[in-house]
Amino acid sequence: MAQQFEDKFQRKFYYLRLSITDVCNFKCTYCLPDGYKPSGQKNSSFLSLPEIKRVVTAFADCGTSKVRITGGEPSLRRDFTQIIETVAQTKGIKKVATTTNGYRMAKQVDAWQNAGLTNINVSIDSLDPRMFHQITGENKFTEVMAGIDRAFEVGYEQIKVNVVLMKDLNHNQLPAFLNWIKDRPIQLRFIELMQTGEMDELFQRHHVSGVAIRNQLIANGWILKVRAANDGPAQVFVHPDYQGEIGLIMPYEKDFCQSCNRLRVSAVGKLHLCLFGEQGVELRDLLQQDEQESQLIERIQTQLENKSISHFLHDGNSGMTPHLASIGG
Ligand code: SAM
Ligand code: SF4
Repeated sequence: MAQQFEDKFQRKFYYLRLSITDVCNFKCTYCLPDGYKPSGQKNSSFLSLPEIKRVVTAFADCGTSKVRITGGEPSLRRDFTQIIETVAQTKGIKKVATTTNGYRMAKQVDAWQNAGLTNINVSIDSLDPRMFHQITGENKFTEVMAGIDRAFEVGYEQIKVNVVLMKDLNHNQLPAFLNWIKDRPIQLRFIELMQTGEMDELFQRHHVSGVAIRNQLIANGWILKVRAANDGPAQVFVHPDYQGEIGLIMPYEKDFCQSCNRLRVSAVGKLHLCLFGEQGVELRDLLQQDEQESQLIERIQTQLENKSISHFLHDGNSGMTPHLASIGG
């Protein structure tokens, strides 16, 4: 193995979040409220299968063992199943995850599993179909729920469900969510709404801290699970009466970045050291031939020297990220 990817704060990077497309068919109010619009930039085609293979190989050779394939909506790529297979077959990669809006899951999850997909996160912001429609711009609640059922049928033991927490929309729906996970092995994760470059008053109107939910959980006998070394930033709570778990992702909380173990590559091949970083570092010129791997690794390692200790969201600085569909959340 080449040298493990590590930054100057001794954070090691085991986890790559790889975006494979910016395109999405949903219009989530906090992400792409007006729907997907092509960037219009030259050379903005998304990474090809051989480019994906090369970038994942370089990361795996430097200690990355988990890859999350994200987007935009990753399942909109026609070669999505082949991409899963390519990542899964890369030496050193043990977990291949995806984050999806779930719209194609009922029909395709069998194929994804056969290709080697080990973990699934689905985004569902409300269990009320009308509110789901209002938030995502799409009347697809039934299809998404059918996708989750199908994923359990084909043998996934746990599904993670992402819920973006929003004041006056879903922040008081904890009882409904708890009821839903009582007998289902779902880890339901409330993600605090994050401010991005293109967001104006939506953040002021709907941002709410996860602290109130955490307090309700603790008051009702939920217990914080001990974090394993490679775990993500969620605080996960369990309860003896519930099969499901609750996660809280609170990026505005102090020390959120301390456990950062992930790097991001965008759909056009730019390395992002942080979700809220600057424009990204070009990698694509070094993804054209297998022989470029050592140069690629060197460029990433040099850039890691610049990774900041924390994001600057607290100062109202959301970086250059216009919306999370552009680098995959
Ligand atoms: N389209 C897929 C989906 O929605 O699951 C994958 C991409 S999406 C950008 C990844 C995750 O980021 C989703 O769970 C989404 O809810 C979340 N997300 C998007 N914008 C966000 C924001 N401004 N604040 C918090 N979470 C956000
Ligand atoms: Fe699409 Fe996901 Fe963004 Fe919603 S959160 S608009 S599903 S990329």
